[in-house]
Amino acid sequence: MENLTVNFFEKIPDQILTCLPNELYRLLQGPALFFLPGKKSGPPLFISTLIHGNEPSGFLALQRLWQEEGFILDRPLLLFLGNIRAAQINERYLADGPDFNRIWGEGPCASLPLVSDVITKIQKYKPIFAVDLHNTSGLNPPYSALSVLRPLELSLAQAFSLIAVHYSEPNTTLSHKLTSFCPSIAVECGKNTDPLSHQKAYQFIKICLKIDQLSLLPNSSLQIYESLMRIYIPPGSSLSFNPAHSANFNFISDLDKFNFKDVPVGTIIGKCEKKFLLLDDNKKDHFDYYFKLIKNEIMVIKNFIPSLLTINPESALQDCLGYIMTQKF
Ligand SMILES: [Zn+2]
Repeated sequence: MENLTVNFFEKIPDQILTCLPNELYRLLQGPALFFLPGKKSGPPLFISTLIHGNEPSGFLALQRLWQEEGFILDRPLLLFLGNIRAAQINERYLADGPDFNRIWGEGPCASLPLVSDVITKIQKYKPIFAVDLHNTSGLNPPYSALSVLRPLELSLAQAFSLIAVHYSEPNTTLSHKLTSFCPSIAVECGKNTDPLSHQKAYQFIKICLKIDQLSLLPNSSLQIYESLMRIYIPPGSSLSFNPAHSANFNFISDLDKFNFKDVPVGTIIGKCEKKFLLLDDNKKDHFDYYFKLIKNEIMVIKNFIPSLLTINPESALQDCLGYIMTQKF
């Protein structure tokens, strides 16, 4: 694994205004943290994006804002452009490096200079709040992901979307780490190739730049789901979303249509030769509670609400196939 470090800048190179996400690495040579003054003084807004290299909405939204308004936005901005080496090849993360959204907790990555340097700088600048912008590889409505359900996070979540997901695991995300310093949420803007996702990110960043103080909005209209389990494909397995292909796991080609819907008992979601893993936060497997294999077909035997189901084989194998949730309130 490369010894990951971060470069700090107080100016944005002009080429960033027009470069593609896959050209950032050539410009910046690695993960980059920027502090940019704003029209108003005061604590900065912290934004992170491209934590996953194939999730460009946050960067494209900022680029559009800079093109329209110049580099001095309404308030100071502390900006982290994460895995731009993976962005170079449009991947979530690199085969020889970590997933940048799994390095911010306890564990072997905690000693990376990247982690300690970024956190030290964020502590120094004391952001008013933090937003980590992501995309999904499957169809999902825009929603926020919260590791804590404090009033300020809920208020921020509501400003993005009326759908929010609370999670406990993974506890190594950047957004979770930042909850110790300031209100912090991650937002899933929608599919990474959909221009509407970039538009959603753009609108939300504009809202965030205007917020002087997070008000305690009544959260009655926010639908909150609780993430319970993750679906893992056993390592070394082959996976396809094309029924004509032969693979150890062959899911229906439009599996992501079920995201945030109630999947009824009797639904067939694909075929497989052996069970996949459905693990809760304690790594306990729940496959047999929700699914049954009937002549290799995977049938739902207990209804559930999924999120982040992907139809991208690389995403499913690199991270997970998706999450199973319950509606909290
Ligand atoms: Zn992501």
